[in-house]
Amino acid sequence: MCFSEPTVFLVGAGPGDPGLLTLRAAELLARADLVLYDQLVPERLLDFASPAAERICVRDLPGHHPDKYAHIHGLLIEKGRAGKIVVRLKGGDPLIFGRGGEEAEAMRKAGIAYEIVPGVTAALAAGAFLELPLTHRNYSSAVALVTGHELPNKPGARLNWKALASFPGTLCIYMGIAKLPVIVAELMSHGKSPDTPACIVERASLGEQRTVSARLADLEEARRNAGLEAPGLIVVGEAVAHRPPRSWWESRPLFGHRVLVTRPRHQAGETIRKLEQLGAVVHRLPAVAIREPADFGPLDRALNQLPGGWDWIVFTSANGVHALIRRIESLGGDLRLLGCVKLAAIGPKTAAALCDYHLKADLAPPSEFNSEGLAAALACAAGKQRILLARANRGRELLRDELAKIATVEQVVVYDQVDAAEFDPEILDHLRRGEIRFVTLTSSKIAENLLRSFDETIRGRVERGEIQLVAISPETGKAIRAMGFPVAAEATEFTSDGLIDSVVGLAKR
Ligand code: SAH
Repeated sequence: MCFSEPTVFLVGAGPGDPGLLTLRAAELLARADLVLYDQLVPERLLDFASPAAERICVRDLPGHHPDKYAHIHGLLIEKGRAGKIVVRLKGGDPLIFGRGGEEAEAMRKAGIAYEIVPGVTAALAAGAFLELPLTHRNYSSAVALVTGHELPNKPGARLNWKALASFPGTLCIYMGIAKLPVIVAELMSHGKSPDTPACIVERASLGEQRTVSARLADLEEARRNAGLEAPGLIVVGEAVAHRPPRSWWESRPLFGHRVLVTRPRHQAGETIRKLEQLGAVVHRLPAVAIREPADFGPLDRALNQLPGGWDWIVFTSANGVHALIRRIESLGGDLRLLGCVKLAAIGPKTAAALCDYHLKADLAPPSEFNSEGLAAALACAAGKQRILLARANRGRELLRDELAKIATVEQVVVYDQVDAAEFDPEILDHLRRGEIRFVTLTSSKIAENLLRSFDETIRGRVERGEIQLVAISPETGKAIRAMGFPVAAEATEFTSDGLIDSVVGLAKR
């Protein structure tokens, strides 16, 4: 059998929500050497690609349509031939108004082996996220996916408006916003009732989703009043009348709210996903980054005393757990070195990081997941013992000071936390314009570094409550107040889930 492994993959990205990528798409993104993505594809989806992958947005290729097509094909062929794994990532489905057919043809002609991965097309996303039954036993027996891009009167036009006007079901019109008045006029002049229910949806499946509904005759006016712009999908048909005023998606507690996540990039994933699933539009602005310690000396000396040299190792973050175990491994050791030592974790996330290595925390504070809580719990359990405190290059000294009163303590740096040197100006602009309502702050250092970058405009918005600073703990709250900013809420459980609960609480008010 002769089978050449494909190198070029024409992949549907779905409508935008990362959860709507197919498993195949995620698998291929993780393997890609190059991701060539359409402008409509949210950059968030590139999180699924390996950090080493080259990323090119079609927007940045030279030329205008249709010259660009030659560049796209050329790049796919060049990289495919060189044996690179190329993911050509396209919004929705590649074969629905996505030129996937033409790209496949170009690959065929060039003799490049390829694969096509379907995606959730915009019409299906609109159906689910607006709760709009595209077909229905009683009033819609068919669905048509129609381009609105074609000028109805152009010579050789392929759309049959008469047939579309009498189509016995739901019309989903792609790329039609700019031509909406013409589309409406054509449908009505061919017999479609001006009273036909219709709607437009923008950014279906995302927190930014916006919808406007009207009878067909009034759709353009309704669009203008609501300020909806291209790209958007137009849906025409009885089905539109049968959706609830607010879909399950539009009823999510953070739907449409913009939230800023400031955690280090590699740690932000879970928080971002949870916020997205609550309906939020999430922006990222990592305020600190995690690195290897500048000097491994003290840590290595402490690890050399294992096994036996320590009664306890105390972890104050998940980062600390991963960093210490990585170091044990790079020194040639393994987990057996931790066989006889007791392990303490500051909170559930730190304990969960130990669990990743099949290690169980012997001790964690029952409720107060901070230095005070941990010191109190250890005071009962670790008196007169030898404690190794594994932590970042900076932080509070409270734990060491408290433990030193009852035990022998050595504090070692297992990772360095460094301030981000600069912030994405685009995100700062969002803040300046008051487009982001919630700023989540997960440590004092993050708060200090970020708030230092706030200018007078942003500060004014925070003071007026238009931007709300949400702290993960009283300690972080204190750091925010010390910088002269008000705190809108402090999490009652000092974890990222607790922080998210606080954001939801504020959004409800
Ligand atoms: N291949 C894509 C369509 C590309 S054409 C697909 O299968 O969905 C681009 C048009 O798709 C836009 O003009 C808009 O009409 C529609 N579209 C794509 N994503 C959308 C979304 N999330 N919400 C609403 N319309 C969307």
